[in-house]
Amino acid sequence: MIKFLDLQTINQLHREELKNAFDRVLDSGWYIMGAELKKFEADFAAYCGVKHAIGVANGLDALILIIRAYKELGLFKDGDEILVPSNTYIASILAVSANQLVPVLVEPDLDSYNIDPSLLEAKITEKTKAILPVHLYGQLCDMSAINAIAKKHNLKVIEDCAQAHGAKKDGLTAGNIGDAAGFSFYPGKNLGALGDAGAITTNDDELAVAIKALLNYGSHVKYQNIYKGVNSRLDELQAALLGVKLKTLDMETSVKRTIVNRYLTEVNNPKIQLPKVREQEAHVWHLFVVRTNDREALQHYLTKNEIQTVIHYPIPPHKQTAYKEWAELSLPISEKIHNEVLSLPLSAVMKEHEVSRVIEVLNAY
Ligand SMILES: *Cc1c(COP(=O)(O)O)cnc(C)c1O
Repeated sequence: MIKFLDLQTINQLHREELKNAFDRVLDSGWYIMGAELKKFEADFAAYCGVKHAIGVANGLDALILIIRAYKELGLFKDGDEILVPSNTYIASILAVSANQLVPVLVEPDLDSYNIDPSLLEAKITEKTKAILPVHLYGQLCDMSAINAIAKKHNLKVIEDCAQAHGAKKDGLTAGNIGDAAGFSFYPGKNLGALGDAGAITTNDDELAVAIKALLNYGSHVKYQNIYKGVNSRLDELQAALLGVKLKTLDMETSVKRTIVNRYLTEVNNPKIQLPKVREQEAHVWHLFVVRTNDREALQHYLTKNEIQTVIHYPIPPHKQTAYKEWAELSLPISEKIHNEVLSLPLSAVMKEHEVSRVIEVLNAY
């Protein structure tokens, strides 16, 4: 079986260093908010070219805490609206709802699967406070268009970078192209921990200060609480492990780009629609997603040929039971995407013969 994502082999690459990091944390006797977190936050901030990186418990919390901090700073209030792409992973939308704000769904464009900037202005009302672009599958959104609209309407831009660690455009890295950004280090993401983890990046000092309190019970000083905060800290152990993997992230992305170039040049089956790439640097290939009319048939055929695939994502957010209030919405582009997409195997540990086999099987379909 050619695995969709062989996490075991990926983490084995770092076996010795990960074990050393574990030993260091074990022996330190200090497991929360210590030197490992500080070091990883500094390294990740430098990686993104941003002033502040703040470790949190997971990617969903990263987005929730950014919005929550804007509320505490008096910029957002209950019932305000945030524009989100209608085909995103549900977490981007949950982060808005969790704060008693209203997610307003905007369709993506079919070429990039990212939020379509030309549809944004029609959705802006006097309640709109932010745009939450999601760099889906690892490809940056059209941030110059999005930032221009945000500036014109005085909106915040909150990047969802959960799939786009290291994506670059015009010298800027994901996490440094809006007002604040949320990252996930879920094990299968481009930079993955050995468990749940996440981070927030921003150049906004005031926002960073508020977030640091909110994630720690609303407290800067022990036993003094200025907000009704939460516990969403990133532990020393995950920070230490992430520090190991951050060092090879760009190298792994470049291996993935080589594999992707083979897929893009050698797969030539008209039944399979390949992804379109705007710029090499702006895509870090969290996923290699193709489209086809009869997705179930293609997936079944690939499974029969021992090639594992995954659907990202099978049900659009507006068709989820959790968002019953959206059941009547018509979002034809999202619905088409959700019916047609299929993610192929892709990782830095895929072997050349496995890539060749995937290409051969796809072309024979
Ligand atoms: C994974 C993901 C999240 C949530 O991250 P977790 O760490 O799993 O909470 C948010 N947004 C997008 C686009 C994601 O892919």
